[in-house]
Amino acid sequence: MTTLSSIILTLILFFCGASLGSFFCVIVTRSTHSGPASKRSRCDYCHQQLKTRDLFPVIGYLLNKGQCRYCEKSIPKWYFWAELSGGLLFALLALGIWNNLFTHPFFNSPQSFLFVFSLFCFTGVLYLISLFDNAYFWVPKQLIYLLIGISLASISWPITLQTAIEKVLGGIIGGSLVGGQYLITGKKGLGLGDVFISLATGFYLGWQYFLVALISGYSLAVIVNIPKYLTKKRATIRQKIPLAPYFLIGVVMALLMGSSIISLY
Ligand SMILES: [Zn+2]
Repeated sequence: MTTLSSIILTLILFFCGASLGSFFCVIVTRSTHSGPASKRSRCDYCHQQLKTRDLFPVIGYLLNKGQCRYCEKSIPKWYFWAELSGGLLFALLALGIWNNLFTHPFFNSPQSFLFVFSLFCFTGVLYLISLFDNAYFWVPKQLIYLLIGISLASISWPITLQTAIEKVLGGIIGGSLVGGQYLITGKKGLGLGDVFISLATGFYLGWQYFLVALISGYSLAVIVNIPKYLTKKRATIRQKIPLAPYFLIGVVMALLMGSSIISLY
């Protein structure tokens, strides 16, 4: 693929991811308010019909300086971050696939097209789960079932014994590591949803890549949250940390760097 066409395709994927992020924001917001989750065509405050340029993900927010163009009320900042991260996620996956950066055995299998498809489905659902987790520390059960369903469907056919063992061990390790943490912390530190997300991720990636994802995700969570503990009084800090976003970043990191880390030990 030429450089120009890969840049154009990456931009298209960025736009698709950012649009999905924008749509997911509506789902997350409307899940606790009444109203259809089909579109965000009106301002939440003044109900003015919005134009295409207002709805264009990421750029619409920047052009309007984070405000509604009609009533000048601020648009929640996390809309912008959700759109940007959705765009970056899809662009990064696309770049990784086109440049053969993904070294997971998935991508060498004869069914790799299906795995690319399952990768976008799995990370897309995990991304929506992350938005819910980040906003409410709560995730709809249906999304967890969907994530488990995608991870089960990702099994390659004809399946080798080695792949089957890798995946089943991944599910067991994923479920028991985070499940143990759930029980030890008295169910306060994290939710039961996190246990099932970890189980599904373990089964999806297989145990070796899962451990890379878990360690990367947890390390990032610690690095990001340490400044909060140092700068604020302990009492004012929420004990919970939304885990799903770190899992998602961990999964992408494991796919990109997994084999080089695994070969080290
Ligand atoms: Zn308005």
